[in-house]
Amino acid sequence: MQTAIKNIVIVGGGTAGWMSATALATILRGQYNIRLVESDEIGIVGVGEATIPMIQRFNQVAGIDEAEFMKATQGSYKLGIEFVNWGKLGDRYIHGFGILGQDLWTVRFDQYWQRMRALGKAHELDEYSITRMAARHNKFMPARPDLPNSPLADIAYAYHFDASLYARFLRGVSEQRGVRRTEGKIASVALRSDNGFVEAVVLESGERIEGDLFIDCSGFRGLLIEDALQTGYEDWSHWLPCDRALAVPCKSASVLTPYTRSTAHTAGWQWRIPLQHRTGNGHVYCSAFMDDAQAQDILLKNLDGDVLAEPRQIKFKTGMRKQGWNRNVVAIGLSSGFLEPLESTSIHLIQSSIARLLQFFPDSGFNPLEVAEYNRQSRFEYERIRDFVILHYKANQRDDSEFWKQCAAMPVPDTLQHKIDLFQARGRVVRFDNELFAETGWLQVMHGQNLKPQGYDPLADLLPVEEAEKYLESIRDVIAQCIQHMPTHADYIAQHCAAP
Ligand code: FAD
Repeated sequence: MQTAIKNIVIVGGGTAGWMSATALATILRGQYNIRLVESDEIGIVGVGEATIPMIQRFNQVAGIDEAEFMKATQGSYKLGIEFVNWGKLGDRYIHGFGILGQDLWTVRFDQYWQRMRALGKAHELDEYSITRMAARHNKFMPARPDLPNSPLADIAYAYHFDASLYARFLRGVSEQRGVRRTEGKIASVALRSDNGFVEAVVLESGERIEGDLFIDCSGFRGLLIEDALQTGYEDWSHWLPCDRALAVPCKSASVLTPYTRSTAHTAGWQWRIPLQHRTGNGHVYCSAFMDDAQAQDILLKNLDGDVLAEPRQIKFKTGMRKQGWNRNVVAIGLSSGFLEPLESTSIHLIQSSIARLLQFFPDSGFNPLEVAEYNRQSRFEYERIRDFVILHYKANQRDDSEFWKQCAAMPVPDTLQHKIDLFQARGRVVRFDNELFAETGWLQVMHGQNLKPQGYDPLADLLPVEEAEKYLESIRDVIAQCIQHMPTHADYIAQHCAAP
């Protein structure tokens, strides 16, 4: 359809809606009319408070000042995720952001580490990662690019923030840049009779809002993409069977940890997200193996502060919309699909969907080739993250519950099985094209959950043992020294971005 796009309507004012509004208002420089409709009565999902480092790029592009954003959202810093009880009960490892050790010539650091580990001459992986060590010691500072040869130059980090405050903050930014907000509940969606494109959304008040391009950020329901266009949903719950979450805030603990924690329970897992004014907690569980009362009991027994509100339940089905872009509707956020927040990827998926939409921006109409390419790239991204999340369930050795035994025994997608097989042969990890998680992410989870490679890269043997030992020790030493000079996470926040 070749009509010029002038009016963009965003349906929904949660994280997806306001991130989309902020990015489009910034990048399109006022050349389009952008209108956002949200319903106070329906509200937002109100969870989604942990991110991954790519969000810094969103802030840069949107011209958001980090300190201002942290103060406004009661934010804290995140260096990775601590996984507790995932491999076996009692296990604990951190998936830290950024690099691991330092590669030498063509051989990856972890290959030397595996070799030296087998000889009893290497320490825990933590000790070769600046972010893992800083997390262990509750230290934080941002990267120092002015020290290029120091691990301090390699500190990759993300944020934890209050989801409601984040939406409010982005609303302020968007409105300043010309986005028009309308409060009201959409009662119906009008489709064009000739091509089935969305023509307008009609509010309960009777107001009709017409548009050329609609961005569906209406949450799980998918008001436009599903209710109106019936795009279809691909269900992945046979691989990721958790289908409910209970969320509850509690008072902050005495130490402000710079990482998210994920603790596996008998039929799911619990998140812990530290913020300046409270700690966010939630129990993601599988209703086929655990009832709601049990799930709530476990959640409340595993808090480290007094409860601040009643637990709130959220139901979901893991999977993705068959097409994220259908006709003149692009689904962004929960309307496009759902992967449980084990690796904090949903907000990133919002960001990458926005970037992709801008890459294929339909200024003068909808080109089926470009729409298909958008959908192909979205699927690739979703499926690779799906595999990474499944790995956490598959690679477990727990024998204390039927849930975990079934997860360990389940067949997984071929793409994931291929990665596991390669790793188990010689500890090698491959990154498929530009998939989100790099080799270091996969490696940390595979080692952390006790997948045992049968061998390692033979080229790692070319370095004499003494030299390999020195090389590992030098990395470990310099990281240990850096950690001593870093401020605590709490001190850093107090100095730079404490909420008023
Ligand atoms: P919502 O927040 O649900 O917003 C939907 C909007 O649409 C609202 O403004 C609503 O009012 C509006 N709307 C709906 N219907 C109508 C209507 N009829 N008329 C008008 N307006 C309407 N992601 C992460 O990256 N990290 C995490 O740690 C994380 N944790 C999560 C934990 C859980 C349990 C869940 C379920 C999700 C989590 N996510 C996480 C995902 C994250 O919460 C979402 O990606 C994010 O909040 C975006 O939600 P949204 O904006 O798509 O939907």
